Amino acid sequence: MPIKTTVDYIIVGQGLAGSCLALALKAQHKKVAVFDEPQKNLASAIAAGLFNPISGKGLAKSWKADVIFPFAESFYRQAEKKLSTQFYFPMPIYRPFISVEEQNEWMAQSQLDAFIEKIHTTSAFGEQVNDPLGGILLRQSGYVDTIAFISSVRNFLTADDSFWALHFNFDQLKIAPDKVCYEQVEAKGIIFCEGVSVRQNPFFSPVYIKPLKGETLTVRLPQPLPVIFNRSIYLVPTSRPLTYVVGATYKPNDNIPSVTEEGRAELEEKLRSLINLPFHIEHQHWGFRPTVPDRRPVMGNHPHHKNLYLFNGLGTKGVTLAPYCAHIFANWLRGESELPQEVNIKRFKSLYSKFSLGANL
Ligand SMILES: Cc1cc2nc3c(=O)[nH]c(=O)nc-3n(C[C@H](O)[C@H](O)[C@H](O)COP(=O)(O)OP(=O)(O)OC[C@H]3O[C@@H](n4cnc5c(N)ncnc54)[C@H](O)[C@@H]3O)c2cc1C
Repeated sequence: MPIKTTVDYIIVGQGLAGSCLALALKAQHKKVAVFDEPQKNLASAIAAGLFNPISGKGLAKSWKADVIFPFAESFYRQAEKKLSTQFYFPMPIYRPFISVEEQNEWMAQSQLDAFIEKIHTTSAFGEQVNDPLGGILLRQSGYVDTIAFISSVRNFLTADDSFWALHFNFDQLKIAPDKVCYEQVEAKGIIFCEGVSVRQNPFFSPVYIKPLKGETLTVRLPQPLPVIFNRSIYLVPTSRPLTYVVGATYKPNDNIPSVTEEGRAELEEKLRSLINLPFHIEHQHWGFRPTVPDRRPVMGNHPHHKNLYLFNGLGTKGVTLAPYCAHIFANWLRGESELPQEVNIKRFKSLYSKFSLGANL
């Protein structure tokens, strides 16, 4: 338990959202106190850490990819230096074509040039994958070792007496117009970065964060892969040699907090149709992504308690969204800029009437 202390902000949750926000605030010389209850299946640790500028069936560029991807690279590179740990791994993504029509469609995507390394019209990685029609090789892609990132942020905060591995208990929160108090900590405000656990938050539970279940496999291969293969599933390297994360399933209506036979079978089948190599399954994992119906993060403050803040809704793309969103959120807290409407909690105005005034006024 922290001793009596005064900070600028309390942060609840230290997944990708809380970690990036803590670094962004520390870069502005703000004092933070971070509370995070260790959880086995937190999304940020289950995530393969993939960043892919072009995803989905519609060949769509990720939201603000031209800004967000270079920003994420510079953020993680600086964090690597500050935390003396490597966790940012650029790597091309190769997506085999499944039809001649698709091959033609990709060749017409000149506006995606910044993200296209090369288009192969004949097999380029036939030893490892099924790519008789060739495929597209993407750049500005790769993966973040999210476990290494989060642990090094945690060590950094711990060394600074700014981290407590504790459950945040809402009953202990006292709110005044100009400050909040939690246990021994007094702060200007409190920022909730709880991922899907926000549904237990008495102040922000009306915000519609829908848990989207995902399962992954950890597999061992007989040889290393030169690129990230991605076709309906991906194979992303882990910190162990020859070991890859295969993912992920998307099951919006599955609330079961465990792995399933169905998830394993789906991933195994897709892996068999993508690669030509034998594989050995070592583990299966599950987690819930914090998604919002309009697929944009959600940030801002509570309509009645202005010093209670939300930073959530990173959905399926926490690795790239978290650094950029933490940056604009920290600048907004400092009064430097407005939050863009598309990520602003105010876009859910109709929900405001449902917001609880909360206790401890
Ligand atoms: C299977 C799967 C694969 C994924 N793959 C990718 C990928 O390849 N690339 C990508 O960009 N994204 C991926 N994602 C999405 C990514 O994981 C999320 O966008 C991101 O991790 C969300 O981060 P977060 O910090 O908001 O939430 P979380 O990671 O859930 O962190 C919230 C934290 O808050 C803590 N907390 C909550 N309530 C309390 C409380 N009361 N007291 C103390 N602590 C509390 C929790 O313990 C947790 O540590 C994947 C997700 C899943 C499930």
